[in-house]
Formats: sequence, C-alpha cells, structure tokens
Amino acid sequence: MYDFIDLDRIDLSAEAPSKEPERQYYFMAKLREFVAREGNRLGRKLTACVVTFGCQMNAKDSEKLSGILKKTGYVLTDDENADFVIYNTCTVRDNANQKVYGRLGVLNGYKKKNPAMKIALCGCMTQEKTVIEKLRESYPFVDLVFGTHNLFTFAELAYRANQEKKMVVDVWEGTDRIVEDLPSERKYPFKSGVNIMFGCNNFCSYCIVPYVRGRERSRDAKEILREIERLVEDGVVEVMLLGQNVNSYGKNLENGISFAQLLREVEKIEGLKRIRFMTSHPKDLSDELIQVMKESKKICRHLHLPLQSGSTKILQAMNRRYTKEQYLALAEKIRQEIPDVALTTDIIVGFPGETREDVQDTIDVIQKVRYDNAFTFIYSKRTGTPAAAMEQVPEDQVHEEFDKVLKCVQDTARMRVKRYEGQVMEALVEEINEGSNSAEALRELNAGPDEILLTGRLSNNTIVHFPGRADQVGTLVMVKLEECRGFYYLGRIVSGK
Ligand code: SF4
Repeated sequence: MYDFIDLDRIDLSAEAPSKEPERQYYFMAKLREFVAREGNRLGRKLTACVVTFGCQMNAKDSEKLSGILKKTGYVLTDDENADFVIYNTCTVRDNANQKVYGRLGVLNGYKKKNPAMKIALCGCMTQEKTVIEKLRESYPFVDLVFGTHNLFTFAELAYRANQEKKMVVDVWEGTDRIVEDLPSERKYPFKSGVNIMFGCNNFCSYCIVPYVRGRERSRDAKEILREIERLVEDGVVEVMLLGQNVNSYGKNLENGISFAQLLREVEKIEGLKRIRFMTSHPKDLSDELIQVMKESKKICRHLHLPLQSGSTKILQAMNRRYTKEQYLALAEKIRQEIPDVALTTDIIVGFPGETREDVQDTIDVIQKVRYDNAFTFIYSKRTGTPAAAMEQVPEDQVHEEFDKVLKCVQDTARMRVKRYEGQVMEALVEEINEGSNSAEALRELNAGPDEILLTGRLSNNTIVHFPGRADQVGTLVMVKLEECRGFYYLGRIVSGK
C-alpha cells in the first residue's frame, strides 16, 4: 500500500482541514485512534469486511474502502461476522437489490450478538431514492449509507458512524470532483484495475448507470500515469484501464488527450508488461484506437465490444447510436487490422418491443462476428430508465429466445476458442487452482509429484490450466495449449520463471 500522508504526523487537536485528501487523512487518524481504543477495550483487534457486488469499477472502489479500513487499524477479513461490514452494491439488474436486502437480515443477526458492529452500504444501489427510504423504514440497524459520488469521504463517514447513534446517510446527487491519492488495498499483487474516468453520458434507454454514476469525468492523464508507475514499482505487471465508455476519455478535460493517445503513454511505462481496457462503446471506437492496438507490444489481444442487440430497430429504441450494419463493419475492420484479436460482447434479450425477427438479427450478428465469448442477459426493467415505461415482452417468449441466443453464442465461441489448440502462448499466472477437478487435471497432464494446478490468462483473455509451482503466480510463462475444453484449455509450461 502506498503511503501518501503519515497519520502519525497529523495534529488531531487542530480543526479538520477542508482540502482533500488531507481532510480524509485527518479522519483516518481520528478513526485509527477510535479503533485502537475499542481494540484495547475488547482485548482484541477490530475486524472489517468489504463485500463487492457488480462490476470491475466497484471492485476498484472496494480496494479503496479496504485500503482506508486497513490504514485505520481494522484487520481485513472475508467473514461478514465482523466489527465493520460494508456492502459495495450494484443496481444494474433488479435481482442485485433483492440479494442485498436478503443478506442485510443475516448481518442484523450478527449485530444482535455484537451490538458495537457497524453496517454500511455504498455503491450504485444507494443512489436510488427509493432505496434510502426502504433502508430507513425496514433496515434501521444499518449505520451508514453513502453513494458513488462521495466514496472518497469514507474515512470521515466511517468515523461519524462510529460516533453517532443514528443512521448516517450522505448520498450526493452528483459531483465534478475526483480525489486522488487515497489508500488502496489491491486484491492481486501483480495486476490492478486503474480508473481512467467515472460516469457515463450515453443514456442507453435500459441502463441505470448514468443515473447512479453521474456525468462523465476523466482523470488527468498525469495522475493515471503516476498511479501506474507506482503500481509497477509495487510489482504490478498488468493493468486494466476502467471506464463505462473508455472511448470518451479526455472529452471533458481542458487540453485532454484521447484514449488512444493515453494508451500510447501507458505503453511507454518501463516494467509494465500488459495493458487491458474495458469498456469500449461501438459508437465512438476510433480508427486511431485500432491502430494503437495493432502496433502495440503490450495491449492485450482482447477487445470487449458490447452489441446488446443485432436489430437496428431495437438499437434505436435502446439509444445505442449505431446500426447493425455499422457494428458489423466495425467488427470486420478490427478483425482485418488485428487478425489475432479476441472479440467478446454483451447481449440483452427481451428488450421491450423485441420480436422473434429482432432476435434473429442478433443471432445473425453472432454468426457473422463469431465472438470468443459473450455475456448474455435477460432484459431487467430498471425503474427510472426510459425502457421501463415501454411495453415489456412476454416472459416465456423471452426465455425461449434467450436459449436460442445462448446456444448460438456457445456454438460459435467453442469453434473460435479451439483455433489456438497446439499453439504456445504467453499466460499470466493468476492463481492456484484448488477446484474439485484439479487433481484429475493434474493426472491427465502427467504432472510431477510436487506440481500443483495453476490457472493463467492468455493475452486474448482465454483461461488455461497447467501444472506448476506456487511461486509462479504473478509471473508470465509460455504455455503449450494441449487440449481445448470448450472455453478454456489444459496446457503445459514450456518456459517461464
Ligand atoms: S454506455 Fe450505455 S450501457 Fe454502458 S454504462 Fe453507459 S448508459 Fe449504461
């Protein structure tokens, strides 16, 4: 963890500074004092658990929450029966909210046994007004609720929640602020997500993100490069540049640079081996970006290009601002310029007004583009979005059509992924595979007695499992792709650390 400000040097007898992030470090020092005192009173260290729902943006935010809790003396745990539990929520589909409400009941059970326990909620769900009302009415045992726009004030709010007896609620409508240099506790020592921008201006008619994450605001390129340099110094070899639509990067900045130019700058960072990014909207993916990917030695050969629907009629109703033909032409151009690129996508089935013919258009695009993989979703009505007011498609029809789309995706992807069989490719070793089939896989691969099963990720985002040693986790190795197993491979290291 990078130390920006030394808490020991903060004068707690003075007023809290108004400038950020100094103000938050002041409250981190205050909170640390409280945590130490409570620990002495209880004769043990206080524990904290951060639970992440949803996307990689949320996972990155959770690393900041964990960083602040750790810096203030909490011991991080995965056990939700802890002294401080925070749910970093998602609201992209309705069932995400229901899941959180269900789990809050369990937390209340723990709190009955540990009354000093603090329960907090943040993330996209808390930006919905109806949710705040429901929490006040039905979940009064929750101590702290804050939103996506003021996550940086977590230290101050966590301190207040430990002082005040009633629920602390602080959810902002929006913000134009980006506060840098807060502690962050990375999940993986060798790879990291890096936010390049926040919010979204696209207002796809089914999507709640612009209402809960606000308007687009890009981070200063210098801050992004500084963060990545620090990460590389700290052992990171791969970064994932994160934004709801990275193609819009820099548009709100004075003298801003384009996303493609930012990639060129990131590429120059010594010691960084791999660059990934997510998510690119097809409406403004530039030729410049395709060129930068083509020429790059570090940008991974994987592009996630959400289609959502193959029907131009539905794309218009979704406010996606491209047609079926434009999407197909873009995919074709990318394939021509970067032949070894793996294309993946997101598809929604059941959007209001969607007919069986519209789904046939989606299937037609899948067959023409032949994705390496796709995330297929059943449309989820989100209150407050324009699509929620449209006439919904009958559920049985949706499920029937969804199964057709899923089958088509799996059939084409299986064929695509198989094309790498027998090749030797570079994999980043991401973890030790302790899955139930690991022993059998080791047998099939005639692994040595001291070898364990490792899981790695190829540049094209395909997963491969192979025998190796624990100290190879976090390193890049060359793997022979012995056998394709549908969407992943079994392989053998041919060279590496
Ligand atoms: S681009 Fe569309 S789907 Fe993606 S976050 Fe923005 S509004 Fe939502």
